[in-house]
Amino acid sequence: MRSIDTIQKMISTANKARLTGERIAFVPTMGALHEGHLTLVDEAKRRGDLVVMSIFVNALQFGPGEDFERYPRPLEEDARLAKERGVDILFTPPQAEMYSAPPVVTVNPGILAKEWEGSARPHHFEGVLTVVAKLFHIVQPDVAVFGQKDLQQAGIVRAMVRDLNFPIEVVMCPIVREPDGLAMSSRNRYLSPRDREVGLKLSKALFALRDAFNKGERRASALEAIGWRMLERVHGLTPRYLAAVNATTFQRVNLVSPGDAAVGAVRAGETRLLDNIIF
Ligand code: AMP
Repeated sequence: MRSIDTIQKMISTANKARLTGERIAFVPTMGALHEGHLTLVDEAKRRGDLVVMSIFVNALQFGPGEDFERYPRPLEEDARLAKERGVDILFTPPQAEMYSAPPVVTVNPGILAKEWEGSARPHHFEGVLTVVAKLFHIVQPDVAVFGQKDLQQAGIVRAMVRDLNFPIEVVMCPIVREPDGLAMSSRNRYLSPRDREVGLKLSKALFALRDAFNKGERRASALEAIGWRMLERVHGLTPRYLAAVNATTFQRVNLVSPGDAAVGAVRAGETRLLDNIIF
């Protein structure tokens, strides 16, 4: 595995690979790698000849008072995991390399960012799209691999690629969970045993929605009520949202069909947790 930390070097390496006809498969991450990230690498290896992973904790997508400073950055351990899993190039640009000055031009995510994570975290998706657009220009992938864990993010990236004509295929991989159902996340390291126990209720609530759907319930309000009952009045747990939505438009639906999603977010102690299922 080669490590690259300058934009110029990454661009020239990508140019060379493209000239020799190699297919570049790209996995953008913020590091603190876990099995969820590493299954994206597996998918990238199936779809490309040269697997590039980026690790960049993107200041632009964090709001004031969020966890940018304390976000975990175990770079040595990440490099070991990436190498073991078969990443060819690890791109780890410093903050000043990606933002030598605060960007004047950013990417507007539009209507898809209005609700759910978008309304909970103003400017979050603008920060995400801006860095993803920059990374796409630098890494020049043929295919980019994202996780369903951030379903709305994957949908918004797909929309950017379509609307701004990036010649890139966007692939989404299923959520990797802990044995008890908790969606893997770099932020799970923040959880105390008690936070983890209450945080687990989010995935349990989403699974309960899916079970009720599988038994025939189609009314979104009835399905959502099942989940809300499991999240309300739990000490240490603050539900943020739980809704049945169309998995492309992220508009709430009244009647749920296969392929729709349930998205949810809670705060367990001080940690925000995010999860979803596709019906
Ligand atoms: P992050 O490092 O949190 O920005 O995530 C980088 C990529 O990994 C994103 O496309 C995430 O959706 C994906 N990802 C994070 N956690 C998981 C998970 N548990 N299962 C699948 N993909 C994940």
